[in-house]
Amino acid sequence: MIQRPPLAEDKLAMLIGGRWAAAASGEYFESFDPFTGKAWALVPRAGVADVDAAVEAASQAFRGEWRSMTASARGQIMARFADLVAEEAENLAVLETRDNGKLINEMRMQCKYIPQWFRFFGGLADKIEGRVIPIDKPGVFNYTKLEPLGVVAAITPWNSPLMLATWKLAPALAAGNTVVWKPSEFSSVSALFFGRLFEKAGFPKGVVNIITGFGHEIGDRMVTHPRVAKVAFTGGDATGRRVYQAAAGGLKKVTLELGGKSANIVFADAKLEAAIPGLVSGIFAATGQTCIAGSRALVQRSVYDQVVEKLVAFAKTARIGDPLDPDTQVGPITTLPQRKKVLDYIGIARDEGALQLLGGKVPEDKAIADGWFVEPTMFGNVSQSMRIAQEEVFGPVLSIIPFEDEDEAVAIANDSIYGLAAGLWTQDIGRGIRLPDRLEAGIVWVNMYRATSYLSPFGGYKQSGFGRENGRTAIYEYLQEKSVWIDAGNSIPAPFVQR
Ligand code: NDP
Repeated sequence: MIQRPPLAEDKLAMLIGGRWAAAASGEYFESFDPFTGKAWALVPRAGVADVDAAVEAASQAFRGEWRSMTASARGQIMARFADLVAEEAENLAVLETRDNGKLINEMRMQCKYIPQWFRFFGGLADKIEGRVIPIDKPGVFNYTKLEPLGVVAAITPWNSPLMLATWKLAPALAAGNTVVWKPSEFSSVSALFFGRLFEKAGFPKGVVNIITGFGHEIGDRMVTHPRVAKVAFTGGDATGRRVYQAAAGGLKKVTLELGGKSANIVFADAKLEAAIPGLVSGIFAATGQTCIAGSRALVQRSVYDQVVEKLVAFAKTARIGDPLDPDTQVGPITTLPQRKKVLDYIGIARDEGALQLLGGKVPEDKAIADGWFVEPTMFGNVSQSMRIAQEEVFGPVLSIIPFEDEDEAVAIANDSIYGLAAGLWTQDIGRGIRLPDRLEAGIVWVNMYRATSYLSPFGGYKQSGFGRENGRTAIYEYLQEKSVWIDAGNSIPAPFVQR
């Protein structure tokens, strides 16, 4: 096993108002390494009092130095932060892998890529322009400004902890908001190290606050706190619904990035040597723990047997093991309850009559017996009525569904409450242009899968959520428009008539 040195500090601290603090209660919880199955860090267990302190700090910071700073100065701090993250990328990646068990290669890629978000949105900070309206009233000057909302509550899941937080924090800060961020209880360690860099980069105290704890204990207070203006949430759809309802009470602005059951569609005319690894990367990369997992492989019937055979042969070669080992291709599941959920779904698929083609259990290899693994699993001849075709598993389980023609592929792909992403493999250029229009998904990849960028919008259709992250328009999710009217003609108001 690769060495896992202990953390330098016995107990980690949260960032509230520029202070590194224990929870007001003094309580901690253990964070587990999913490969060893052992606790490896002690994280503060925030309570409602800590949420209140963090929101108060963010609220004060919003009204203070941060608000009066020029947008260019804000952007420069963000650029400095990007440089610091780039320097720390390797350390952050190792912390993430130890905390959530995802492959070091993937966490390295993400941590090296994160600075681009802070550079891009930091660069955008001073390019947010209002408009001069050619108003239809003589002698009146009317212009608009885009202003920040205030305190943003950012709530993030465990699967890509820093990356998904970055998708919220970078546009929120560039727009001039302040933030209270709660990472998942299963992946808080990297967040607290990331937090140190905000200080070093020169963000004023209280602009970024990080509180750690259990969603069921503090989530509601974060979402309903009267001084929180906006909630930016990524997580499961059940939690997303709860968050949306709670936020409605205070008429908060909300963006939700939720789950998916994305279709990865292979036509008979596809280049199969690309489509097969494309299907595998869609589901087994990140051990299926990604909202954009291509968890439904739709395969045209004329090549169905051939694709299944190649897919099983390819997936069988995937190396399961220590996520810190760069040669590992499939790591553990991040949490024990999530492993149970994945194994339960495998049982449900079998009971529903799906044909198990691969995997289906915990690996027998004793060398990895302490880790929370599930074998890469595939089910063939899955039909739309099966739960395994409809519900998000969030694990390494692929449902393979045959189809006859384009119309049927579209019908099956769209027969889902979700609409986050879709993949399409074809050599027919017409189909490659035609089908993205017909697929009900916020992201469509053609002859590729699972690419994201700070430049391109990301978000769901249907019950995969609303609002967009990434791309220049994402910054408008954190801004509001003000219209300013000035009488430049010294006219005397007619008091009883609308002007
Ligand atoms: P959860 O929905 O359980 O948790 C997400 C976050 O919400 C965590 O920080 C969690 O805290 C917090 N939370 C839990 N209860 C509440 C509450 N009542 N109020 C406010 N916040 C709360 O998701 P997971 O962490 O289990 O992540 C996996 C899920 O996220 C998957 O279903 C996946 O589809 C979805 N996801 C979606 C993505 C997207 O972009 N669309 C990206 C990644 C994941 P705690 O951890 O303490 O429970």
